[in-house]
Amino acid sequence: MAILIKDMKKREYCHDCGTSIGLEHADGCDNEACTECGLQKISCGCEGVDSRERWSGIPRMRMLQICEEQDLYTKWSDGGWVSADRDDPESMHDLNRAASILMNRMANG
Ligand SMILES: [Zn+2]
Ligand SMILES: [Zn+2]
Repeated sequence: MAILIKDMKKREYCHDCGTSIGLEHADGCDNEACTECGLQKISCGCEGVDSRERWSGIPRMRMLQICEEQDLYTKWSDGGWVSADRDDPESMHDLNRAASILMNRMANG
């Protein structure tokens, strides 16, 4: 887990399609995450997804890995997101928490 995080660098441009932070990926980019399921868009198989992911500087795949390694799972309950077990069928990766952990680590060197 330490290696993964040390490894993380915010990238101004997508390594595959070259788009910059805040802009949408180009068609066929292997670094674009599906906005529906969160997996790699070119291989996830979802159909009719209109919205595109914008490049955030951190590959979504890496954040999913961090969630799995650090057990960051969440689910919607009573009008809010709460921590959940990975075994919970309603749980999903807590990307927000993974992102803030990464940002903190990067800010602190
Ligand atoms: Zn891209
Ligand atoms: Zn999908």
